[in-house]
Amino acid sequence: MREIDLHIHTTESDGTCTPAEVVHQAKKIGLRAIAVTDHDTAAGFRAAAAEGERCGMEVIPGIEISTTFFGPVHILGYCIDPSSTELEQVLDWVLRDRDERNRRIARRMQADGLPVDYEEMRARFGSAIGRPHFAEILVELGLAESVKDAFDRFVEKGRRYYEPRHFLSLERALWIISRSGGIPVLAHPFQYRLDDDRLRELIEHAMVYGLKGVECSYSGYSAGQSGYLLSLADQYGLLTTGGSDFHGAVKPHISLGSGIGGTLEVPYSCLEELRAAADKVKQQ
Ligand code: AMP
Ligand code: FE
Ligand code: FE
Ligand code: ZN
Repeated sequence: MREIDLHIHTTESDGTCTPAEVVHQAKKIGLRAIAVTDHDTAAGFRAAAAEGERCGMEVIPGIEISTTFFGPVHILGYCIDPSSTELEQVLDWVLRDRDERNRRIARRMQADGLPVDYEEMRARFGSAIGRPHFAEILVELGLAESVKDAFDRFVEKGRRYYEPRHFLSLERALWIISRSGGIPVLAHPFQYRLDDDRLRELIEHAMVYGLKGVECSYSGYSAGQSGYLLSLADQYGLLTTGGSDFHGAVKPHISLGSGIGGTLEVPYSCLEELRAAADKVKQQ
């Protein structure tokens, strides 16, 4: 039986299930606990936690912040205080920057004669709009076959509707998560295509600024890959976490709790250790 899933996106960022739907789905498949880890916002957690209270599902506050080191690096933050004013200030900056970038993308599409209304997108998709939403619009307009196809041909770096946005530095993301009582964890370490030396360099550098864990189990990671990450975490005395990176219908091959092809399995003990570490941080 699957126990937990610590990496989940909702409609508050680029997922297609509402926070309440995610909680119900988790309940249906028998999970004991979930963490909602939307990009750049804790809003999804609040709604999920309220639903979790109602139907008896443990919901952990989380967030996923995009940063750069050698290239893109994503940092997950668990057990954060979602109402920390410092966290809110930093996230406001990120969301504003995202919004400015989105408006540039929308203007570029409009200039090409596409019927894209950014205010309508905001009403429909919320505050953490991203390229996946533009990809969805391109699919709806019949210009792409799928979100992936839209990325490949239109919104991936170097394509016509790509516009850059700014990222928090790795150090600042680690700092703000720790500062708001959270536990920073390196997300999906193989996604950055770093060799062993560089991955270690990233981990060692991040640890100086408060990194406390590594996401060892992730959708699509083989037993061998997870084993390698578990041994890395062990060598550095880091916590281990795992999650599917569920996004709903935009990534239909990824299932909540069980990942791709049912290969993901994250034990409840990961969460217990995470929570113990967070309690320790809060006592300091
Ligand atoms: P943004 O932060 O708005 O620039 O969008 C980045 C998000 O787009 C990531 O979090 C991924 O979920 C998604 N993404 C990036 N590349 C692709 C791709 N090739 N296909 C589908 N989704 C992608
Ligand atoms: Fe995403
Ligand atoms: Fe990510
Ligand atoms: Zn994610």
